[in-house]
Amino acid sequence: MLVAVGLAALGTAASAQRPAAPPVPPPPADLQARSVVPGLWVIDETPAHGGSITILAGPEGLLLVDTGVESWAPAVAATVSRLGPGPVRYVINTHAHVDEIAGNGFFAGKGATIVGQDGVREFMLTPRAPPAGADGRTARQARAFPREAAPTITFDREMGLTFGGQELRLIAVPRAHTASDILIRFPALDVIVVGDVLRAGEFPSINRADGGTLDGMLAGLDRILALAGPNTWLITSHGQVVHRDAAEAQRRLLITARDHAAAMIGQGKSLDEVQAADITQGLGAEALPGHVSAQQFVRDLYNELKARG
Ligand SMILES: [Zn+2]
Repeated sequence: MLVAVGLAALGTAASAQRPAAPPVPPPPADLQARSVVPGLWVIDETPAHGGSITILAGPEGLLLVDTGVESWAPAVAATVSRLGPGPVRYVINTHAHVDEIAGNGFFAGKGATIVGQDGVREFMLTPRAPPAGADGRTARQARAFPREAAPTITFDREMGLTFGGQELRLIAVPRAHTASDILIRFPALDVIVVGDVLRAGEFPSINRADGGTLDGMLAGLDRILALAGPNTWLITSHGQVVHRDAAEAQRRLLITARDHAAAMIGQGKSLDEVQAADITQGLGAEALPGHVSAQQFVRDLYNELKARG
């Protein structure tokens, strides 16, 4: 009930500035934060609001990693406001996908500073034509964002950020899932937010259209494995909080599938033939609704290997 009142108030404030804004639906029962370690929570992915959101609470306010889709930002704000006092001071983006960055503008409008890799800012401020046959998500992804939604603190390879008594490290893992992925490491909490560089127990998401590559993905997983100890929590964008064995399994899957596909390409096999050969069977990946299917993964792998010649 308190949440509904808060949302109604926010909706009124928003509509005063932007009369065309659609009403914000109330948060679903599953838009709740769960504790990962003391002081750090995660809102798991939901189909409505987008990818997972990590929250660090400190005496000076809150820090978010990713913000979900735009229309759900008030609901996210209502959920995170229950985790600690003060405003959302920082938002860090794992990468430039609409289900991670589209809520940025809402939080920037409330005074948050947005932080991301150089390429995230560039991506958000560059309009592009949606690809032919784009679905709703891809079409939304293609548009440019308002300037205030883009990161104002950016970096190329690595940067530090101190917040809530924690020394965060932001580490670029370029051309992995997209052109501009980063890992966010909380060393004292033994937590790394890994974005979409790891899809634990699922097929990897190498988003070639957005600059992702197989080699970058492998390098990203290697970086995660180098940083993570046996008890480190790895928070992924799409539903899992796991340990390093999940990253090891994903790396094995990528290498095994790559080698199978490369061998078949060497024998002159077509994409249809490689897809029909079921080269991912037994590699421990499951296709979840709305996530990467075996066929999509093999297609991306095939196209990348084929493009290498
Ligand atoms: Zn993504």
